[in-house]
Amino acid sequence: MSCIEARGVFKSYGKTTALNGFQLSVGEGRILGLIGPNGAGKSTALMAMLGLIPFDGSLKVLGLDPWKERGALMEQVCFIADVAVLPRWMKVSQALDYMGGVHPRFDRAKAEAFLARTSIKRESKVRELSKGMVAQLHLSLVMAVDARLLVLDEPTLGLDILYRKAFYDSLLNDYFDGGRTIVVSTHQVDEIEHILTDVAFIDRGQVVLDSSMEGLETRFAELLVGPDKADAARALNPIHERQVFGRQLMIFDGADRKALAKLGEVRTPGLADLFVAKIAPRFDMKGRAA
Ligand code: ADP
Repeated sequence: MSCIEARGVFKSYGKTTALNGFQLSVGEGRILGLIGPNGAGKSTALMAMLGLIPFDGSLKVLGLDPWKERGALMEQVCFIADVAVLPRWMKVSQALDYMGGVHPRFDRAKAEAFLARTSIKRESKVRELSKGMVAQLHLSLVMAVDARLLVLDEPTLGLDILYRKAFYDSLLNDYFDGGRTIVVSTHQVDEIEHILTDVAFIDRGQVVLDSSMEGLETRFAELLVGPDKADAARALNPIHERQVFGRQLMIFDGADRKALAKLGEVRTPGLADLFVAKIAPRFDMKGRAA
């Protein structure tokens, strides 16, 4: 069954179009990375999915209309915007009490079990914890909610790389069971690439690439080619090209790998390179949109 089905979703804020025919289909049990530059419409898309803003077009989440059936949807969904933030005055024990009070599917014993693996004390206040510990606490609270869909909007913003990696590893190993669906938005692709089953690139309110990770492997190829064969490779229509230590690195969409292999080294491009190929041509060196 489909967990998220968006067809031609539009959202404007005054004169700004945030979603411009947003189209996406996510099956249950998938881990989707929603990846796009700042201002692409990631948060707006997630807010529409969570029923936090009205929109035009057709959007169903777990078979429900998020705007009209938000109450029923929220019983099955968990959402985090920033894992490093919790009310600073709260004690850890109060955070557990609070979650038990608001979420019908919160399993306190499970949260306690996650916390027991950390050095976080029940009587500590959030303001006394390090950023990484707040993230651990946040994750312990979230992982104890039996949700069908977990939505994470740039969850690791402001955390250093070690905590970001630990966060995603924990999510994959301790939470994901193949039955739940996770949607995570980010503009930092490297650290989530290994946990994703699906990816959607979003740019200017539209999904410009939507694929399973296996689908990327069959569709895209990256070729490292020397100057002598660069023109022959260009004749095969790369979608992107850049120089790497005197050789050209080219990315192809739908090219014959055997033909490419005659010209140089072929492999599957990483998400970061694909992202650059699909989206960066519009940006100049200072990151401004063309
Ligand atoms: P992202 O999450 O990818 O950075 P957003 O969904 O936050 O992108 O924003 C998409 C576009 O909509 C941007 O141009 C942003 O400035 C605009 N936008 C988002 N929220 C609002 C708002 N509440 N009022 C006006 N414009 C907004």
